[in-house]
Amino acid sequence: MTVKAIGAHAADKALEAMDIVRRAPGQHDVQIDIAFCGVCHSDLHTVRGEWAGTLFPCVPGHEIVGRVSAVGPHVRGFQVGDLVGVGCMVNSCRHCADCGEGLENYCDGMVGTYNGKTPDAPGHTLGGYSERIVVHERYVLHVRHQPEQLAAVAPLLCAGITTYSPLRHWNTGTGKRVGIVGIGGLGHMGIKLARAMGAHVVAFTTSAAKRADAEGLGAHEVVVSRDADAMAAQAGSLHLIIDTVAAPHDLDAYLSLLRRDGTMVLVGAPATPHPSPQVFNLIMKRRALAGSMIGGIPETQEMLDFCAAHGIVADIEMIRADEINESYERMLAGDVKYRFVIDSATLRGGR
Ligand code: NAP
Ligand code: ZN
Ligand code: ZN
Repeated sequence: MTVKAIGAHAADKALEAMDIVRRAPGQHDVQIDIAFCGVCHSDLHTVRGEWAGTLFPCVPGHEIVGRVSAVGPHVRGFQVGDLVGVGCMVNSCRHCADCGEGLENYCDGMVGTYNGKTPDAPGHTLGGYSERIVVHERYVLHVRHQPEQLAAVAPLLCAGITTYSPLRHWNTGTGKRVGIVGIGGLGHMGIKLARAMGAHVVAFTTSAAKRADAEGLGAHEVVVSRDADAMAAQAGSLHLIIDTVAAPHDLDAYLSLLRRDGTMVLVGAPATPHPSPQVFNLIMKRRALAGSMIGGIPETQEMLDFCAAHGIVADIEMIRADEINESYERMLAGDVKYRFVIDSATLRGGR
């Protein structure tokens, strides 16, 4: 079936309306009428060709929520009308150790929701900036929030799980001091989630104007990273740092804030590398520098249920589909509080 979408035909072209084809639901497929799709910085990195290997036409979008509109005959977990989400992946090999442990995000055969290899036309996956998507039920999540919260649930599917997973993996909880670096889509979720897990949360921002917001999101302390005295006051104090910054920057400034055995986790994925940190900054306090990529399907469901139970959603600004190019510029300028979400109805209703 043909559905409406917005995407780009080349890295140097603006996004524009286009028609794309979705497969008819197969035996185990769930067909989802997309209600909302969040706008992740990874969408921008990909569609502008900042990371190697973008395939065109490119339809981004991996923070998808909507309602099930059809199911294949062998689907067991979903019914027509269910509120559901789809995050950053729509397939994986299903038999490797990573898939067996529910860590499909680390499977070598993981298929991204966009820009992944698929037998469907045009040979690569097309994402959630579209009216409808068809996904194997293994990669579909239940949304248990109230229906009126749906738009603000969308960003949990990437920004939420990408911060939840390392917070859990590195045992965030009561008595832990956790730093969140960069208050954007990921960072604002990191603050909310770390707070809900019981940690003492220190937010780091380059934008002094975000101080009050960060406190409102749940940060116990807010440090403007250009303030050398405020940075020095945090030296050796943090158990864990989640760095969400989308641009290269000095990692040593943050590594030195870790206490002995502390870990700094990079989730931000800038197109050009960070300057290498000083090895002595790691050696002297047995500190670790790590990375983390989204989360597996079981953990994504756990995160959605945790958020539903704690009343956590993203802070969003709703946009029309035809406002996407302007939204990218505003995201680059840090001018979004704190996630753009596309109202997919504006794809259907003419522009
Ligand atoms: P975003 O909304 O643009 O937030 C990034 C934040 O980084 C900004 O709000 C800003 O916060 C801070 N920042 C500081 N200097 C910056 C600069 N020169 N340019 C851009 N940002 C700067 O982006 P996002 O959607 O949260 O994504 C953040 C990064 O994570 C991206 O690189 C994205 O591709 C990556 N990502 C990774 C994963 C994963 O699985 N590891 C998943 C999703 C996204 P302040 O104003 O507070 O300083
Ligand atoms: Zn994302
Ligand atoms: Zn696998």
